Amino acid sequence: MKTCEVCGKTLTGSQRKFCSIHCKQKTFAPNYGTAAYRPMPEREGDNCIYCDKPLIGRQTLFCSRQCKIKGRSVYPSQNKRKRSRKIAFIELRDGQCKICGYDKNLSGLSFHHRENKEFTIDSHTLGRLPLQKSLKELEKCDLLCHNCHFEHHYPWMTLVILLEQSAKGNLLALQPSQTHRCIICEQELTGSQKQFCSRKCSNSYHQNYENQQRRGIERKVKLVNQLGGRCTQCGYNKNLASLIFHHTSGKSYGLDLRSIANRSLDSLMAEFEKCVLLCHNCHAELHNPQLDKNEVTKKHSN
Ligand SMILES: [Zn+2]
Ligand SMILES: [Zn+2]
Ligand SMILES: [Zn+2]
Ligand SMILES: [Zn+2]
Ligand SMILES: [Zn+2]
Repeated sequence: MKTCEVCGKTLTGSQRKFCSIHCKQKTFAPNYGTAAYRPMPEREGDNCIYCDKPLIGRQTLFCSRQCKIKGRSVYPSQNKRKRSRKIAFIELRDGQCKICGYDKNLSGLSFHHRENKEFTIDSHTLGRLPLQKSLKELEKCDLLCHNCHFEHHYPWMTLVILLEQSAKGNLLALQPSQTHRCIICEQELTGSQKQFCSRKCSNSYHQNYENQQRRGIERKVKLVNQLGGRCTQCGYNKNLASLIFHHTSGKSYGLDLRSIANRSLDSLMAEFEKCVLLCHNCHAELHNPQLDKNEVTKKHSN
């Protein structure tokens, strides 16, 4: 009986050496099998992927030159493959946001599912799953910039409305749809319907709404307002979900909705002092200067 060379599981069917793509990938790292081997990180987070120290400023994967040199030799093929596939997929969708035409930086673009989502297309899944499978999934997707994408999924987080409500002290009181379309799926409303076309849409709104935690949204509206209510870089101010607090120094934790809802006000304010307000597009540009459209086209044509 044959077993997987990596994890030792019994092989089935047509498997010859490995039980899964995951196990096969592990052997691509040059140090595989030695003490210096480190498995691929699950995703590119806010810590150095080599030594796990928090990243600062424009750092994207590594915290220092040393880590970059050491890290590149540990995970070269995966990084390159993930990146080049994402670029190719973006080009297959005309290289720009379908709604606003944004195309400045590739990391500011993401794939939105029109229907039947099986998995998210991002650099993580692109590096891991077979190309054919990802291509099939791409057929169901449109390319959107982060800001338009958030606006689409969080129509009830329109900033001017939230600011008005917050000033009156009744945040997120449901307003009748302005356009006579369902505020979730945009289907035409009929009869006495005011916001939703169906129970399903109504439920999805209320579940999301509770998940996002009223307190988090309430506090975020106030913090955003204190920082001028718009992206410091480009002036974007349409949707609360598209705005993010970016650390300019000494990050202890990220100011996402969950931490904003759950941390004490004192701790929040200390963290808030270190931040500037950016939209998701500008934030992606800041963290991934190497994915600027001009940089990428230069490299490709070389
Ligand atoms: Zn857009
Ligand atoms: Zn989407
Ligand atoms: Zn609906
Ligand atoms: Zn911006
Ligand atoms: Zn940032």
